[in-house]
Amino acid sequence: MENSLLAKFVAIVGQNNIITDPAQQQPYLADWRGRYQGKAMAVVKPQTTTQVVQLVNLCNVNNITIIPQGGNTSLSGAATPLNQSTLSQVIINLSMMNKILSINKEDNSINVEAGCTLAKVIDYAEANGRYFPLNIAAKDSCQIGGNIATNAGGIHVIKYGMIRDMVLGLEVVLPNGEIFNSLNNLRKNNSYLDLKQLFIGSEGTLGIITRAILKLYPKPVGVITGLISVKTIFQAIDILNRLYAHFSVCAFEIIGKTMQSIYNTHFAANKFPLNDNWLILFELETNNENNTLNILSEVLNDVSVVICDSMVSRQNLWHIRENLPLAEKIHGIAIKHDISLPISQIELFIKQNEKSIKDYYPDAQIIIFGHLGDGNLHYNVQLATNEQTIEQEVYINKLVYTDALSLGGSVSAEHGIGQLKTSWYKLAIDPVGYNLAKQIKQLLDPKNIFNPKKIFSEIIQ
Ligand SMILES: Cc1cc2nc3c(=O)[nH]c(=O)nc-3n(C[C@H](O)[C@H](O)[C@H](O)COP(=O)(O)OP(=O)(O)OC[C@H]3O[C@@H](n4cnc5c(N)ncnc54)[C@H](O)[C@@H]3O)c2cc1C
Repeated sequence: MENSLLAKFVAIVGQNNIITDPAQQQPYLADWRGRYQGKAMAVVKPQTTTQVVQLVNLCNVNNITIIPQGGNTSLSGAATPLNQSTLSQVIINLSMMNKILSINKEDNSINVEAGCTLAKVIDYAEANGRYFPLNIAAKDSCQIGGNIATNAGGIHVIKYGMIRDMVLGLEVVLPNGEIFNSLNNLRKNNSYLDLKQLFIGSEGTLGIITRAILKLYPKPVGVITGLISVKTIFQAIDILNRLYAHFSVCAFEIIGKTMQSIYNTHFAANKFPLNDNWLILFELETNNENNTLNILSEVLNDVSVVICDSMVSRQNLWHIRENLPLAEKIHGIAIKHDISLPISQIELFIKQNEKSIKDYYPDAQIIIFGHLGDGNLHYNVQLATNEQTIEQEVYINKLVYTDALSLGGSVSAEHGIGQLKTSWYKLAIDPVGYNLAKQIKQLLDPKNIFNPKKIFSEIIQ
């Protein structure tokens, strides 16, 4: 049975585009954080939408579940197959569908296959005098299809929004093998429901995204990057609003004191140039650098500030920011939370939750960094030993998520639900919304062959 099925997969994609050897499959079977390990009959790499349709039909007839996979950089185990019989699962990896199909400079749009890496799209836009603003540290590996399926965020959300705001049209192979086509580059299109939105953030549960038309933007003429130090989050929010009044703010990242000291310990050769309770890495897009610098010095006259004076110093500051997760990883295991809150509630959340955690775990280290401008905190907790951290995860999650939800927050700002947060998804969203989401999943994928046991904590029939 297995051999005859494999022969059918080979007949669709060719012998060179299928991996069955467990050792070669390994990079596709484990998630980026090394938390989940799955099994698969094969990793299959289609090169065309027609091949994707054929693969989906074959899986449908044979009741084989499909794990759509892009760059496999998910931080919630969303792209990792389950740890069950190899016979029942196939990874459809989009990396061979990696062509930029066209760019339209008049309409400011780009038409790409879903397997293009994010970096390829950014670079292509740049080479053509345009700008694609999605920017995340995984850009060299993650793919546009994965970015859309997770509704990726990153550092520029305060100005450009999540990728949802950058998608004009999509092509998606549905679980029944039909092709949904909304490939247009219209800015306005009020023709009843905007169905492409269903697939943005669907985490591989409703079909396979094969193509996308994305918005492009004018390249910023100039950029000013700087670091400031503040005592409180309220002070940071006040500065953000002062900056908004004068400038086009495109990044406003926060780094807490514990994160600063962990980073400085592990990257001693390139320490933060300032230190305080909170550091803010900000970036402004500007047309007139001299004028901006003059106004900026007035706006920031009451805080310590370092302004980057060259491309090298700018890259250096962003390099520090990108290395924070690595520094944290070197420091030991932490329980990670990607939460968002109304920005006005962040100071209160941090005070309240620090008390909730320290009441039970006086030695806990709370490591905070993230995208303050859009209310997204990477809020990670480390206990005295790695063993204790692993053992107490469920309790720590409860303390963090309960406080975040009570203040109007979300348990997943940008990393998605995957298999990491299934139980919290059900608790966190409105029950009517949960049932609606389940019904949509059942309608589109009645056999539940697309990425099962992700998102929903209960069995979907
Ligand atoms: C160092 C690092 C930094 C990160 N920073 C950020 C950040 O700042 N902001 C942020 O939002 N995320 C961030 N992430 C998380 C991750 O990079 C994003 O979620 C990214 O969008 C995933 O893209 P991918 O191609 O790797 O998708 P994968 O990990 O392969 O898949 C993710 C989900 O999308 C589905 N999927 C993938 N491709 C398709 C497709 N073509 N059709 C349908 N479903 C598909 C999968 O089934 C899975 O559910 C970071 C990750 C790392 C490792």
